[in-house]
Amino acid sequence: GYRSRAAYKLKQLDELEDVISRGDTVVDLGAAPGGWLQVAAEAVGSEGQVIGVDLQRIKGFDDEIDDRIETLRGDMTEERTRERVVDAAGGTVDVVVSDMAPNMSGEYSLDQARSLHLARQAYETATELLDTGGDFVVKIFEGPDVDDFKDEIEEEFQYVRVTNPEASRKESSEVYFIAKGRITAPVQPGD
Ligand code: SAM
Repeated sequence: GYRSRAAYKLKQLDELEDVISRGDTVVDLGAAPGGWLQVAAEAVGSEGQVIGVDLQRIKGFDDEIDDRIETLRGDMTEERTRERVVDAAGGTVDVVVSDMAPNMSGEYSLDQARSLHLARQAYETATELLDTGGDFVVKIFEGPDVDDFKDEIEEEFQYVRVTNPEASRKESSEVYFIAKGRITAPVQPGD
């Protein structure tokens, strides 16, 4: 079984838009406890690679269990964490996914603003890492600035689909952007 019910969201997103292919390298932001890591590892198969990052320690993916999965602990809002992710990837990647969510304060406008901030950090990481043709998936709470953010992403990709997978409908304020086919080339620090 999967470690989290969230796993089914990534499965549905992948079925909808064919995000992860065999042999891909996938970066998973906000990966704890690891349901998306499990789904991504299945989808990339034996030749693929998956890198997971979270503020929390991601338990139980040591090399003996699965040497395709590497986990890092860190805060994606910090530049040095993004640098560690770039180092771990060792080059460009095929897919960046982010299920990051803030700790809920209960005040929607605050939680929504924090969600947008995390989504922007994920997008920045994607622009550093994603190969041309690569895909980017990001969770975001619905709110006022979300359309502008979508417009920005749309300039970098062939298209962006906005969806609320069935597995997440109970938490109905969240949507996922699936950005397909990066048009531009990555610019990594040091290039
Ligand atoms: N996709 C995961 C799964 O399938 O198990 C569930 C992810 S959970 C909904 C959101 C995660 O985002 C939390 O584990 C949280 O610690 C992480 N997160 C929130 N802010 C973060 C940040 N600044 N940097 C890294 N991870 C963060």
